[in-house]
Amino acid sequence: MDYQALLNQIHKTTKVHPIQGKVASYIPELAEVDAANFGMHLCCLNSGDYAIGNNKKRFSIQSISKVFSLALALQAGDYPISRINVEPSGDPFNSMILLEQECGIPRNPLINSGALVMADILISNFDNPKEAFIKLLRNLSGSDTIDINSKVFLSEKKHSHKNLALLHLMKSFGNIKNDIEEILDLYIFQCAVEMSCKDLATSFLCFANGGQTLDGQEVLTSTKTKRINAIMQTCGFYDEAGEFSFRVGLPGKSGVGGGIAAVHPGYYAVTTWSPPLNPKGNSDLGMYALEELTTLTGLSVF
Ligand code: GLN
Repeated sequence: MDYQALLNQIHKTTKVHPIQGKVASYIPELAEVDAANFGMHLCCLNSGDYAIGNNKKRFSIQSISKVFSLALALQAGDYPISRINVEPSGDPFNSMILLEQECGIPRNPLINSGALVMADILISNFDNPKEAFIKLLRNLSGSDTIDINSKVFLSEKKHSHKNLALLHLMKSFGNIKNDIEEILDLYIFQCAVEMSCKDLATSFLCFANGGQTLDGQEVLTSTKTKRINAIMQTCGFYDEAGEFSFRVGLPGKSGVGGGIAAVHPGYYAVTTWSPPLNPKGNSDLGMYALEELTTLTGLSVF
């Protein structure tokens, strides 16, 4: 298959696709990002890389970081099933509703409550979890310049009332072990990392490859990789996980920075970036481009 020709075709259709949605505006640094940015990067396991648009421009990965913190926690131990469930929530990413009903146990690690417990677990397992997190991303992406945007980090700290509320609620049920400020700090740090479509697709390739990088390093066992992909499939898009499966048909994860990273196990990793978000907080044009990719290639997990 001529993947570059196919991506060029997708690029053409994205240019005439009406831009829908709004760029995240809860902090000024995200609100200032140009809505017209678009990038897409496809890394195939057996046949190289293909890209269109701004595939090398870095953006705020936000909730895509939740997949990496899950991977880091699984490198250090087994899945913490007694503290974080593995069911879709069907609710917005920062919702508190189920958390109270379900006694402080988050539905899954890809919503804010679950990622906050995961940050708590990372603090218990690593002397320097921030360093371990960045080290993992640099290793997976092959780029030692991956880092956080400190303006995004500092700004998000001032707008964290909901995340703090989630932490306090979970603490009241005994599901938070470390200092709340320290956990929030780590969570906001991971969200503030900047990566490009190319960096992200290269990093996600290990999830498409049974837990191994292309040069043969074992990042995770194949069983743990299967679990991460299963959680991305069922929970990666909050209350739109069903719609993403229905339209695109790949395990994946979105972030409010407008990025989406997805994998077709055994075949490829693919990422898109377009900042305007639909009402569920997922990139509208990114979902459209990925739907085009799996439709035109016939390569989805279904
Ligand atoms: N930093 C954001 C938050 O915690 C991440 C949300 C997201 O990307 N969905 O609210």
